[in-house]
Amino acid sequence: MEWETVIGLEIHCQLATKSKLFGGASTAYGAEPNTQACLVTLAYPGVLPVLNGEVVTMAARFGLAIDATVAPRSIFARKNYFYPDLPKGYQISQFELPIVHDGHITLMLDDGSEKCVGITRAHLEEDAGKSLHENMEGKTGIDLNRAGTPLLEIVSEPELSSAREAVNYMRRIHQLVRYLGISDGNMQEGSFRCDANISVRPKGQQELGTRTELKNLNSFRFVEKAIDFEIERQVEVLEDGGEVVQETRLYDAERDETRAMRGKEEANDYRYFPDPDLLPVELDEGFITGVREAMPELPRAKAERFTADYGLKQADIDLLTASRDTADYFEAVAASVEDKRLAANWVAGELGAALNRDGLDITASKVSAASLAGLLNRIHDNTISGKIAKEVFAAMWDEGGEADAIIESRGLEQITDSGELEATVDQVIADNPEQVEQYRAGKEKVLGFLVGQVMKATQGKANPAKVNEILRAKLGS
Ligand code: ADP
Ligand code: MG
Repeated sequence: MEWETVIGLEIHCQLATKSKLFGGASTAYGAEPNTQACLVTLAYPGVLPVLNGEVVTMAARFGLAIDATVAPRSIFARKNYFYPDLPKGYQISQFELPIVHDGHITLMLDDGSEKCVGITRAHLEEDAGKSLHENMEGKTGIDLNRAGTPLLEIVSEPELSSAREAVNYMRRIHQLVRYLGISDGNMQEGSFRCDANISVRPKGQQELGTRTELKNLNSFRFVEKAIDFEIERQVEVLEDGGEVVQETRLYDAERDETRAMRGKEEANDYRYFPDPDLLPVELDEGFITGVREAMPELPRAKAERFTADYGLKQADIDLLTASRDTADYFEAVAASVEDKRLAANWVAGELGAALNRDGLDITASKVSAASLAGLLNRIHDNTISGKIAKEVFAAMWDEGGEADAIIESRGLEQITDSGELEATVDQVIADNPEQVEQYRAGKEKVLGFLVGQVMKATQGKANPAKVNEILRAKLGS
């Protein structure tokens, strides 16, 4: 039988606020355990939650960016369960009336076509604490620093149809929240992770199959591998005549397999009810308009503009618009370089490679956009060749300084003066009688070899076009 996969993702995105969702403690990552647990985090009797207004703006930004409804009225609810890292005995979340609902995002698929994926809702909730098992000698430690950190949970419709598509979707959301400046998207630190709901059904069947949920996937690679494993497992169960059990499973990256964790809980297990300590969030038109007016240019619009303004290839556009910082850097270079493609090639190529090698973000680039533009202008006006430019770039990267100074101090300027080049060309002709003869006998290809010899003799500094011209003239063709 042919099977069809259905996937829906619940992405947990940590919002980039300084303090927690309902209390004043810091959200900074990496502090000593429990040094960022204020009385609200600890759920002391008598403390009351106060909503951090910043998160409302952030959620609304996200809502507008996915063409969703930003609810004029939304409500915080208590989701009750017992766990040691949840001192209150409930998590504050949103249930019936989320702040954002009914949006969508467009994916570009491998075959070049587009696919619109529905986003059911995005709601605000607080994160839980963390249980620590390492070096605890038979005990479990609880770190409440993360408890109460604001999350936006983004729930997709069950409309993704492969692991690859799920990753594509997750990448688009990741890119979007970073463009919007509402999350740092740091996956190693857990600021961006997802639960994947997966089911399979006979191809053509309307009704959805029974799903399992894979918890807390925190890298794009794991999402793809975990989903692929789970699809295969479900198909095997069904083909053996069994039934998929609705349950929560964990992905074990070391073994590359998923394991049952617990039975799936239903909403009524959580006894959701509106939190009486918090007022409904009411947003008026003026607020929404304000958020709309402050929206930055979004990835899709930027990509379209780059296509129109710079005439770049799709692959370059994908790289250059991957993050806002990369796009800004590229535009700063392009603004002072005539050849926009040259700018694109260098930002995506040589600069990208150097950043990767040193593990640096583009905002920490050792060569500024203005300095790179200075270098590219020397290629454009033929002061140096592209090859020498790489050497100059390496020097700028390692030692700092501007291209002009490095070209000058190292004597790298391209030789375009015919008089200067002619002597070298004569020498190369004299040293290579065999090749010269072959060329004269009609073997055009040999010219490349001779040009190469001149380049070598000048340490790459000769202008190749000029060398070509002189050689041809001297060899009488
Ligand atoms: P829950 O309340 O258990 O989290 P939801 O109905 O909110 O369940 O759905 C959670 C996620 O699971 C959503 O992203 C949704 O698209 C997805 N989902 C629901 N049913 C299925 C299914 N049969 N197969 C795959 N994904 C599903
Ligand atoms: Mg769920």
